[in-house]
Amino acid sequence: MVSSSVLGFPRIGANREVKKAVEAYWAGKISADDLTKATAEVKKASWTSVKDQGVDFVPSGEFSLYDHVLDHSAAFNVIPKRYVGLGLSPLDVYFAMGRGRQADGVDVPASEMKKWFDSNYHFVVPEFSDETDFKLNFNKAVEEFKEAKAAGVTTRPVVLGPISFLILGKASKDAKPGFQPISLLPKLLPVYKTLLTDLKAAGAEWVQVDEPVLVLDSAATLEKEFTTAYTELAPVAPKILLTTYFSRLDSNLNYIAKLPVAGLHIDLDRAPGQLEEVVAAIKNTTIVLSLGVVSGRNIWKTDFAAAIKLAQVAVDAIGQERVIIATSSSLLHTPVTLASETKLTAEQRDWFSFALEKASEVAVIAAVLSGSQDAKVTAALEANKISIAKRREFESTSDDTVRKRVAAITPDDLERRSPFAVRKEVQAKHLNLPKFPTTTIGSFPQTKEIRQARAKLGKGELSAEQYEDFIKKEVETVVRFQEKIGLDLLVHGEPERNDMVQYFGEQLHGFVFTQNAWVQSYGSRYVRPPIIVADVSRPGPMTVKWSSYAQSLTQKPMKGMLTGPVTILNWSFPRADVSRELQSKQLALALRDEVIDLEKAGINAIQVDEPAIREGLPLRRADWDAYLKWAVDSFKLSTAGVTDQLQTHSHFCYSDFDDIFPSIQRLDADVISIEASKSDMKLLNTFKQYGYSNQIGPGVYDIHSPRVPGDQEIKDRLKSMLDILPDSLLFVNPDCGLKTRGWKETEASLINLVNAARWARGVY
Ligand code: GLN
Ligand code: ZN
Repeated sequence: MVSSSVLGFPRIGANREVKKAVEAYWAGKISADDLTKATAEVKKASWTSVKDQGVDFVPSGEFSLYDHVLDHSAAFNVIPKRYVGLGLSPLDVYFAMGRGRQADGVDVPASEMKKWFDSNYHFVVPEFSDETDFKLNFNKAVEEFKEAKAAGVTTRPVVLGPISFLILGKASKDAKPGFQPISLLPKLLPVYKTLLTDLKAAGAEWVQVDEPVLVLDSAATLEKEFTTAYTELAPVAPKILLTTYFSRLDSNLNYIAKLPVAGLHIDLDRAPGQLEEVVAAIKNTTIVLSLGVVSGRNIWKTDFAAAIKLAQVAVDAIGQERVIIATSSSLLHTPVTLASETKLTAEQRDWFSFALEKASEVAVIAAVLSGSQDAKVTAALEANKISIAKRREFESTSDDTVRKRVAAITPDDLERRSPFAVRKEVQAKHLNLPKFPTTTIGSFPQTKEIRQARAKLGKGELSAEQYEDFIKKEVETVVRFQEKIGLDLLVHGEPERNDMVQYFGEQLHGFVFTQNAWVQSYGSRYVRPPIIVADVSRPGPMTVKWSSYAQSLTQKPMKGMLTGPVTILNWSFPRADVSRELQSKQLALALRDEVIDLEKAGINAIQVDEPAIREGLPLRRADWDAYLKWAVDSFKLSTAGVTDQLQTHSHFCYSDFDDIFPSIQRLDADVISIEASKSDMKLLNTFKQYGYSNQIGPGVYDIHSPRVPGDQEIKDRLKSMLDILPDSLLFVNPDCGLKTRGWKETEASLINLVNAARWARGVY
């Protein structure tokens, strides 16, 4: 028999119970015991509901109150010194590591977070040094295995593997120079041995050991470490399912196939092409192959026929007993259940499959491959065939106007009329900005009043007209404030936007929105990505009204504000039937029209934010060029349709440019703003070294904290920036939007920023 499995389940709870309980605990409204009770219910519901779908291998141990990597660090005693000895309970130490703590005389910042591979999920980066003292503070795998068992479900526990744990971590500040976390492997393995021995003693037959680093190019150098680790662990552990996801194994397969593990999981959603190689490599072993044919990353119904055809290749080669049908990755990246959506049309609902529905999918596919004649299985197979056919039919009805426009894009469409040097002169006259122009990234504080007004509009307690009046007043406040303190290039403050992607999605054709499809971004922060379901087009202007209103209030230039095509794509659930490139170009054309309309309406500077361009980079370097080509082309397409006098801006929320530098230059934005306040001047040296030619506004202070940067502090930053960058290229701005800040610190910080720029004008 072919069996079925799920690699991990969303943690939020069908009604956001976990998010609510965690936040209530932070606010001191419930006790640690209440929190444990609330989460126990959700875990139990997940285990039983996945099992009830007919899944053979139900995961446990991957549940988390904040982040599974953080859980692992806490369990293995990888706790940086700054969190120790503060008199906090273990639970509070854990949350302090995740989100910092500023209360009762304790003041510690959060640990660094990083994106989990190419997803929008962030994990808390473990910090290692020679002094790291691994020990098992608690055995979450065993505890949750027992907890599930008591609830009537025998699970397959999930554990983050030792090599990925070390590789995903970083050397702590007090580590010796040159220290590499992977050097700790010999010290770490005994603790894993204890964990796995206990798990076996508790009765676990299998354990899912996640080693996602195996899909990275860098794993090519880790053969020795993987061999040592798994040779030591396999004899004491339950049967190990070595689990990889998000990309392909490539040459790493050469050594992976020789590891003494009982099973191997591969992602066939992202990398179906690897199946034959993998089958060939493990054919003459006893390794069980887990096939990730049901996507853990999207929300589309799986095409059973296609999945069965693919999986049959493995079944034919190694037999039913050695094949497991699985989700491609944990379902952490999908919403809990379609049952919570009441507003989708019947047609739309039939296209999708969320976590719980995906659990049922793996079970049905496995049953079909096992030759089941069960009436329910046959009915599910038949129903899937009909749904997929309907979706395919819908997909075949494309928007010809958009398709033709994309097909007709020429290289000329991507280029501004004149080179930057010429544009710069024209813009200088037209915009008449002073030296070291001051500006902001776009949003101003999204106050409680703004959120309440939006909620009231949603509930019908405010009419559209009343809401517009309210937003107009907000815009006016923001404009007057900027004039008062003397900023040079103004913004309207984005009060009308619920979210920088959703706001645009709602005004474009081709998107569908959900009510409850929450996906974890980090900690208790969840996002509800829009879904692209059809060709994208712009029925009419999206931002022109607000930008021109804002411009009408002032003599100073107003900067239009848009979210870029690649970011809209990366922060949505994309279609699976056409390429990301096509979707990105369609978005780019819609934005291009918006940019042109803004210019016509008298707006002279437009910012197209692309904070997600880097996170969309493929995991394998061999795939980078293709991605960067269409990603950069999309940005250029959206911004190049204007005259020389229009100043284009773009913004990036990170400072990691080293390896994609030529692409940043190729964007050819007149001005870019980047996060620089936390990254020292190393970043600017990169720009200098590559001879970046356009204007640049490295953030002069960190907006992620309420702290107000002093006047002198900003001057010092400008000084060190000007040591590196030519004065004619420097803009002065904070390092991101101000929507999460309060007015008090915003006001004080921006006044200091303007003063520092004025000082610089006098000195340079
Ligand atoms: N313009 C957006 C803002 O200011 C940019 C946000 C972002 O880059 N994430 O909020
Ligand atoms: Zn930003």
